[in-house]
Amino acid sequence: FNVPKPQNEPVLNYAPGSAERASLEAALKEARAVVADIPMYIGAQEVRTGKTLELRPPHDHQHLLATFHEGDASHVTAAIDAALAAKADWENLAWEQRAAIFLKAADLISGPYRAKINAATMLGQSKNAYQAEIDAACEFADFLRFNVEYMTEIYGQQPPVSPKGIWNRVEQRPLEGFVFALTPFNFTAIAGNLPASAAMMGNVVVWKPAYPQIFAANVIMQIFIEAGLPAGVINLIYVDGPVAGDVIFNHPDFAGIHFTGSTAVFQHIWQIIGTNIHKYKTYPRIVGETGGKDFVLAHASANPEVVSTALVRGAFEYQGQKCSAASRAYIPASLWPAVKENVQRDLASIKVGPVEDFSNFVNAVITEASFDKLAKYIDAAKADDNVELIAGGGYDKSKGWFVEPTVLRVNDPHYVTMCEELFGPVLTVYVYEDDKFEEILDVVDTTSIYALTGSIISQDRYAVAQATQRLRNAAGNFYINDKPTGAVVGQQPFGGARGSGTNDKAGSMINLLRWVSPRTIKETF
Ligand code: GLU
Repeated sequence: FNVPKPQNEPVLNYAPGSAERASLEAALKEARAVVADIPMYIGAQEVRTGKTLELRPPHDHQHLLATFHEGDASHVTAAIDAALAAKADWENLAWEQRAAIFLKAADLISGPYRAKINAATMLGQSKNAYQAEIDAACEFADFLRFNVEYMTEIYGQQPPVSPKGIWNRVEQRPLEGFVFALTPFNFTAIAGNLPASAAMMGNVVVWKPAYPQIFAANVIMQIFIEAGLPAGVINLIYVDGPVAGDVIFNHPDFAGIHFTGSTAVFQHIWQIIGTNIHKYKTYPRIVGETGGKDFVLAHASANPEVVSTALVRGAFEYQGQKCSAASRAYIPASLWPAVKENVQRDLASIKVGPVEDFSNFVNAVITEASFDKLAKYIDAAKADDNVELIAGGGYDKSKGWFVEPTVLRVNDPHYVTMCEELFGPVLTVYVYEDDKFEEILDVVDTTSIYALTGSIISQDRYAVAQATQRLRNAAGNFYINDKPTGAVVGQQPFGGARGSGTNDKAGSMINLLRWVSPRTIKETF
């Protein structure tokens, strides 16, 4: 098939005085100047219910950014009806026509909408300019462009063997029903990709974003519409989770869920789907990326500078609110003094504050609930004689939900912050004896219920090989001599197993295959 070969969208650097910096600053100013009024999008309608909720920047909770219109069960039903009404025309559209819409959307994201979607992500989700750029502009455009490539590979697959007198073929049908996309606050790219990847394969979608991401979700929807997405193919609703779930998971046409979010919510949804399984026309596809308790394991041969960079960037970029964020580290005793010094040095130079000041590396955590939860863990650690505070430990919610990048050192490798996902800027370190590398591999493997990402930092090839083998099931994305975050679409397909999800690799053909249901046709002449 002749589609443009995808290339990763180049990351702009927003240096002072650059054109991209000027346009991003203008977009930030513009977004702050008005209080946006955000509707739901159901079929061809922009729906305003009059029941409005507020959106405020997490780093500036005095400022009203926008209001959005919340719906109820009737809007969920309307969204499903609109999706099903759009289904026949959409699935009968040639795949090139569907692809063109998403390729155009990628060009809008990386072109005319770049500043707007980055500004929305910065203000709504408190991401600094660089974190917004790699997410909302680059990863989102990459998802759409690479998925079009995978889509063409799926439709262009080698047909089965056909002996003389017989013609066998396989038709990749969309799922029979609608897909529910339930998307997280932490990545604009994921919020857009979960509905888009299912829609690309000919499905119709009901999309419910996490509320703190709605400011950017609204921009995503505007882009899809401008790119020519027909009404009803993706319906964007803001409805309380259990209310939405009650309608969706009881509907006979529910055909699949594309989810990124917490393990607890995903498990709960899976149970509901199981309970209702007899109500559906088809076994629903359940695709989810959930939590992580991601590790950095250093070997005694590691370069301490590589270790500390992996820790600081892995643990504190976007305030540790990536499923992939480094949150537990295992450092050999001989390396610890140098690693500790480097981490303290780097954190002393890092600024915490609002996104509008581009020199701030760490911004606010997403909500007051998240702030309170983190403060509780930090207080407990500070009060515990067995925990040493290596850096940070402060927090302040007077202007925004600011939590300092915090590093704890524990004596017990099973201390609570070594095991539980905190989803914030807290890194816990366990220092092990250099000659206990094999034992520590067991600890890394068995400490948490998750298996999303992890890193081994080592200059010793035997140690790399040993860790790669022993930690085979401990991470779906395993990094050698790098931080465990920042998977790039088309380069490192992303996802984990165990408590981290169904491992259907975002940004890969594996994921897209979940959104089709093949039909085998045998014709005898
Ligand atoms: N893909 C992102 C990364 O590699 C993480 C995605 C997530 O947080 O869900 O850092």
